[in-house]
Amino acid sequence: MGTIEFDKCDFCQEEKPVWRTYLRAGIIKENFTFVKYCNDCGEPKNLNVDNVTRFEVIDHTFKNKGRVLVEYDVRVEISIQDEGRTMKVFLTEKQ
Ligand SMILES: [Zn+2]
Repeated sequence: MGTIEFDKCDFCQEEKPVWRTYLRAGIIKENFTFVKYCNDCGEPKNLNVDNVTRFEVIDHTFKNKGRVLVEYDVRVEISIQDEGRTMKVFLTEKQ
């Protein structure tokens, strides 16, 4: 826990008292090295993808396409960009 400040929460985008925390293992630090979160949104949970070897994307929207991507034997890297509005997943060769 760091100091509390008044700023825009990276998750709800509201101006309110926020805490800062550093992104943790499994998330690539790109463009910013920390996230700001308010008490309503809560501290982001650790997302450890170090042991992941299978990646699936499943569409549960109204289009309901089901599994749209299944990849085995891959390494997964997650990048949060665009002030928390974009999530990119990079699949690379398993090491
Ligand atoms: Zn918030």
